[in-house]
Amino acid sequence: MKIEAHPHPVNEARREQILADPGFGLHFTDHMVLAEWTVADGWHDVRVQPYGPLSLDPATAVFHYAQEIFEGLKAYAHDDGSVWTFRPADNAARMQRSARRMALPELPADLFLEAVDTLVRTDVAWVPRGAETSLYLRPFMFASEVFLGVRPAEHVTFCVIASPAGAYFPGGLKPVSLWLSEEYTRAAPGGTGAAKCGGNYAASLAAQQEANQHGCAQVVFLDAVERRWVEELGGMNLYFVRDDGSIVTPQLSGSILAGVTRDAVHTLLDGLGHKVEERAVGIDEWRDGVRSGEVTEVFACGTAAVVTPVGRLCWRGGEVDSSVTHAGAAGPVTAEVRQALVDVQYGRAADEHGWMHRVV
Ligand SMILES: *Cc1c(COP(=O)(O)O)cnc(C)c1O
Repeated sequence: MKIEAHPHPVNEARREQILADPGFGLHFTDHMVLAEWTVADGWHDVRVQPYGPLSLDPATAVFHYAQEIFEGLKAYAHDDGSVWTFRPADNAARMQRSARRMALPELPADLFLEAVDTLVRTDVAWVPRGAETSLYLRPFMFASEVFLGVRPAEHVTFCVIASPAGAYFPGGLKPVSLWLSEEYTRAAPGGTGAAKCGGNYAASLAAQQEANQHGCAQVVFLDAVERRWVEELGGMNLYFVRDDGSIVTPQLSGSILAGVTRDAVHTLLDGLGHKVEERAVGIDEWRDGVRSGEVTEVFACGTAAVVTPVGRLCWRGGEVDSSVTHAGAAGPVTAEVRQALVDVQYGRAADEHGWMHRVV
């Protein structure tokens, strides 16, 4: 891969200042990876170059028809100085599935992995070292052909950028409150819900505004047909802990995004001796279950926030709170599986499932 080093990288003092309190998605490293695809030449011109604006013609197809997909994964620094990513091959495979759904060309998995590894190695000084910090990696692909006709683009660009990320819960795990969207849905059968595409996020933002207006941080979406089955949040999957000890997560329905974290949590819970079921979960099972005490914990999971306890579920005319029995903190199963996951990611627990990939 061609590497063009940044002529004026961010100086060390400024970088250390950023890494001391990076937040999320605010600061970007010195470099990015780019690659081009055309019908004639396939994938080519893979390169690392200085991070900076892309110059795009206003008629570039992605601006008009949103033919775009993305991924999200993290690089973690271990105490011995090594740097690792978590299940990157799963992100590569998911990006291929998303590409097929959005009529984009599949990126070969080895090229995806090489792009991510090369960016992390080039900008390794940007991997934060503090507790539960990471370098968030954002691979994405978009229709870069200049053409207003409606058909799959014949020129596509793949890019990877990286952004240092702080601890999501620096002050300890705080339950999030959720707004039940009864008007809007996220994804319908036959739609794009299982693809990680920007369009799904665009379509979720009006519901997100509604959530914010009602004092909630995130939206819960129901299935689009019966408006009865719990699907997921705008960008996280859901788990429910029941008082009989069983744990349930909505089964992949074709309109739910198959989270890598969701899958890892299932495996870890199995290993911790819990019984996990993947099946349909009705919204009444949640509402009535919290009221009756049959549902003892609810948590959301995804790469960015790892495992997040859920507190209030609000809708027009009511709310229930699954965190009151845990004094507004994370319940025991939520805390246990979260710890098990971050211990593997930060190299403090044995990687029994071969999930970690060493980059540096
Ligand atoms: C990315 C995403 C998730 C979480 O997936 P992870 O691989 O665990 O990060 C869940 N739901 C949606 C809609 C997403 O886009």
